[in-house]
Amino acid sequence: MGIGFCYPSDRERDAQSGPLTAPSAGLGRGRTNLMITWTEDQLAECRCNLCGASNDVHIFQRPDGLRVVQCEDCGLVYLNPRPKDELIPELYDKSFFTSRSSIGIGNYFSDKTRIAKISDAKRSLLALKEAGIESFRKMLEVGCGTGEFCHVVHNRGTNVTGIDIAESVIAESRSRYEKIPFHVGTIKDLDPETKYDAVFAREVIEHLTDPDAFFGKTCALLEKNGFLCITTPSFECAERVGFDNWHGFFCSFEHLYFFSSAAISKYASKHGMYVVCTLYGGGNGQKGNQSMTREVIRRMLTWTYLLWPVRNLLWPVRKIRRMMRPMLSQNYQAEEIRHNLLMVLRKCQ
Ligand SMILES: [Zn+2]
Repeated sequence: MGIGFCYPSDRERDAQSGPLTAPSAGLGRGRTNLMITWTEDQLAECRCNLCGASNDVHIFQRPDGLRVVQCEDCGLVYLNPRPKDELIPELYDKSFFTSRSSIGIGNYFSDKTRIAKISDAKRSLLALKEAGIESFRKMLEVGCGTGEFCHVVHNRGTNVTGIDIAESVIAESRSRYEKIPFHVGTIKDLDPETKYDAVFAREVIEHLTDPDAFFGKTCALLEKNGFLCITTPSFECAERVGFDNWHGFFCSFEHLYFFSSAAISKYASKHGMYVVCTLYGGGNGQKGNQSMTREVIRRMLTWTYLLWPVRNLLWPVRKIRRMMRPMLSQNYQAEEIRHNLLMVLRKCQ
């Protein structure tokens, strides 16, 4: 049983029934409308991962047809039903890291992504420094991707280890940053006797089938007073801009959870941690209103054979904008809710 990709116009929507019938797919900015399709036998009902209740209410239907629900007991937001656990690893084969589709972020291996990730790593560390969290000696990054964050931290003289479930990105990490130990696997595969004073999981927890187990395992790997730093798309941003306008519901369809700071705080206290700081970064979280206009213009230029001449003409502008983007991005701050949530949780003594 495998995962199928197709264009929305090819979807056999009539074969789906009731609430699983998808609306027209959105055209995410800079992405194709390639869409994962799930059949009912590939999906499974689940309980709330935070409190264990089966008391959820439907709040949104994503363009891929999957339903977003919210637990009425604790407020956690998640997909239900969702793809069966055994199908999830198939999402993260090499194509996830190289192709532009409705999952992933495009090409992880490009220089553009490497530069953006190094800038983002520096922004995260600057935010932590401003929050009074500067020194740590031994760091683990879970979901390290191609290793840029590990590289930046390693250059500060910190002992660093990276782990990721995808073999392709770990192979790339090892070739880029030879002095850093990188492992293929999950947090469960690490030696429980080896402790860290800092664990980073940046844009990871929304992908997991069992975040509760993740928080438990992470806390067990932390030294006393060690901290866990998490970044994830902020559900508070969805509430602020409206579900129909929130970028997070219209791309990255591999996401299974949508966390608020309140939900993460509950996980923290459940596992013997407390919240040190809560910050917000990234853009305003609204999906691109111009995406359809851009697509129409692109198609018109394609039909008139003008697409490549126009692209070549605009190449210097695109290049400068691309180079400036990391520098112009705002750092994490506490005052205004934005698309990305950064939280630091410290292990109680
Ligand atoms: Zn719950």
